Amino acid sequence: MAIERVAIIGLGLLGGSVGLAIKEFLPNVATRGFDTDPQVRARAGQLGLVNTIASSPAQAVINADLVIFCVPVGAIPQAASQLADHLPADAIISDVGSSKQTVAETLKAALPGHTIIPAHPVAGTERSGPDAGFATLFQHRWCILTPGADVPPQALADLRAFWEGLGARIEIMEAAHHDLVLAVTSHIPHLIAYTIVGTASDLEEVTRSEVIKYSAGGFRDFTRIAASNPTMWRDVFLHNRDAVLEMLGRFTDDLTAMQRAIQSGDGDAMFELFSRTRDIRNSIIEMGQDDPRTDFGRADHTSDPDD
Ligand code: NAP
Repeated sequence: MAIERVAIIGLGLLGGSVGLAIKEFLPNVATRGFDTDPQVRARAGQLGLVNTIASSPAQAVINADLVIFCVPVGAIPQAASQLADHLPADAIISDVGSSKQTVAETLKAALPGHTIIPAHPVAGTERSGPDAGFATLFQHRWCILTPGADVPPQALADLRAFWEGLGARIEIMEAAHHDLVLAVTSHIPHLIAYTIVGTASDLEEVTRSEVIKYSAGGFRDFTRIAASNPTMWRDVFLHNRDAVLEMLGRFTDDLTAMQRAIQSGDGDAMFELFSRTRDIRNSIIEMGQDDPRTDFGRADHTSDPDD
């Protein structure tokens, strides 16, 4: 494989998982990592997330063929500007951010003249930090690449081979389309989860202990998503504003239609929708993107492809 030295900027769930996945599946690739938090750097060193912990961003990218930003989307401008004067001229610059259009614009503005290929591995959990990473996070998960028209084909082929080496399946997409698709499959579901869990915790007629005690009725699955990293998700909504607002508008219309069906006792409308949604769930299982077992096999399963 053409990529032999990888710099990982940000050593939390995603950065740590990239490091561990390289160690396990691409053992000939050397890794250097940097995180702004000295405690994260120390912990990443103990856990062996990368071969070398760098003490500065500049040190992390020495001789790198590939630099991956694994920081919250809102931290990318700062992380990129810290590196601007130190990047090897022919390094591929990429990231793992959950929104793509603003990231592409930011990286292009901060790092002119570099080969920039934004990426989003659609794999994650509700956990964060260096202890949350694991080597198999990307196995059989999609990784969406959103290269601009000016990206050299060889660089794109190299990045594809890299992610495939970590076990991911690759899809190439326009950044704007990525943001619209992920708004509906990931960002709105997180917003709904955050909101419903917030609503339940604010209810005065239902006690907190009742909410927790009877959570198995569906609420519990929302709480897993609503436990996700607040910094990361704040940044996703700030940076994918337009697509989220567009999809939120459609969702609100559909919710109002369901409210009307309940008000008017239109059982057929409800039954039709609930049957269609069950089919979607079955298709996700058929495509190997989730576990058919009750509780999604969560007792012995750590990755959920919802991020
Ligand atoms: P995380 O576990 O919180 O890790 C991010 C790490 O980056 C933190 O240790 C953070 O330190 C550090 N950091 C912040 N600014 C930095 C900078 N300028 N230079 C170096 N390090 C910096 O977050 P994560 O879940 O790995 O998410 C990282 C990215 O992956 C986000 O863009 C997110 O959208 C994307 N993503 C996440 C998931 C998921 O399920 N979590 C899935 C797919 C993609 P501080 O905490 O001190 O700021």
